[in-house]
Amino acid sequence: MRRALPLEEKLEKRVTETLDIALLAKERFGDFIESQVNPGVLIRDLHGESISNDIFHKACLMGLTSFGLPEEIGGAGNTPLAWGKMLEQIGYYCRDSGFPLVVSLRAGLINTFYRSGRDDITEKYVKPMVFGTRAPGFAYTDGTDPFSFKTIAKKIDGGYLLRGEKLYVTGGATADTFMVYARMNESGHNDLQVFILNKGDHGLEIFPEDLSGLRTAGISRLLLNDVFVPVERLLVAHDGLSHVQRFLNERRVFLVCPLVGRMQSIMEGCVADLEEKQRYGNALTSMQHVQAKIGRMLQLIEVSRSILYRALERLSSPNFDAHWDALGSIAKLTVIENGIELIHIAQKLLGGDGYLRSRHYERYLRDFCGYIPGGGSQETLIVDLGINTITNHTLKNL
Ligand SMILES: Cc1cc2nc3c(=O)[nH]c(=O)nc-3n(C[C@H](O)[C@H](O)[C@H](O)COP(=O)(O)OP(=O)(O)OC[C@H]3O[C@@H](n4cnc5c(N)ncnc54)[C@H](O)[C@@H]3O)c2cc1C
Repeated sequence: MRRALPLEEKLEKRVTETLDIALLAKERFGDFIESQVNPGVLIRDLHGESISNDIFHKACLMGLTSFGLPEEIGGAGNTPLAWGKMLEQIGYYCRDSGFPLVVSLRAGLINTFYRSGRDDITEKYVKPMVFGTRAPGFAYTDGTDPFSFKTIAKKIDGGYLLRGEKLYVTGGATADTFMVYARMNESGHNDLQVFILNKGDHGLEIFPEDLSGLRTAGISRLLLNDVFVPVERLLVAHDGLSHVQRFLNERRVFLVCPLVGRMQSIMEGCVADLEEKQRYGNALTSMQHVQAKIGRMLQLIEVSRSILYRALERLSSPNFDAHWDALGSIAKLTVIENGIELIHIAQKLLGGDGYLRSRHYERYLRDFCGYIPGGGSQETLIVDLGINTITNHTLKNL
């Protein structure tokens, strides 16, 4: 693809594995996050207000969203490991959990659209998404299992009519294009198809979801009231279930990368806060009970980081199972559980300060809890791990 936008000329080329991604993240995105993303996070969280489209657009223009995307579509072509480490650093600098959540999701969706291999989709959707003039959303969750989806696609002349409801669409408030999964309306048919819907399609309505955490991510509900979708916007004609499995399989790994960076930042902030606190003439950090808890925090972070890097490397491995790979699920499970424990520790150590909105810890706890269901519920991932272990699929290739 020809490089069209002037700002794109500023994008750096592929980074090598030895380059310090932490330094690169700080130099390229540190100021932007500090001056444009972090301010106002408490107010946005309070009102459930999405981060603006302008911010996501800038993230695209600066080359953040495209950091791990293929060069053919204007990305920097970095490896999954490098992209995951970049997201970890973004999570470290960014106080607004909604930002890396939406950016990483959109990068994954752009890749998925591109992998359709269709030139018309690349021209109309992928390229504008890379440069931030179009934003994608993922509309799968239906409130039931995929064999009973209530969202139905009915074939008519020239296209399809879609009716139903999609829940928890991350970034839905600022998205222009949705990847929507629907059940074929043929008797006895449970097959899923995947469609491209655009904001403004007649019959498509978008409502904000009022969630406990991740309140700045514009998570929305879509109502599909006989939305006409022309035949060229059918993305996947058969076996949409395999399509979503492949998407979520990778998604789980990138989903949790920013959380490891945030855990690091929370621990550092907690230590700094504890050093300031004097009790009985000593800083709290001089007490062994506190030191042990800080040690536990570090352990939680490093265990999370280790499994996450392994899962990221696995994405480029010939042994990687594109439909369901155990390491990605284990990484997601581990990071969420460890992250929630780490924030609990910080809150216990900090007393009342840990519960103040202005100190952010309580918000991080609400945000991290959003990942218990997000990306596939923790409980179902454990069930899948058990099934794979019993049938010995998992153990063969790890
Ligand atoms: C912050 C956030 C962001 C999200 N973003 C998106 C998005 O962008 N797009 C999108 O489509 N969806 C999104 N989701 C939805 C998310 O993917 C689903 O909530 C998740 O997959 C769980 O599905 P469910 O809510 O239908 O619950 P279910 O899967 O029905 O689970 C309900 C309960 O039943 C249990 N359960 C279900 N099946 C089994 C089983 N076989 N064995 C044991 N227990 C089981 C689960 O553990 C859970 O406790 C998001 C959710 C959140 C919270």
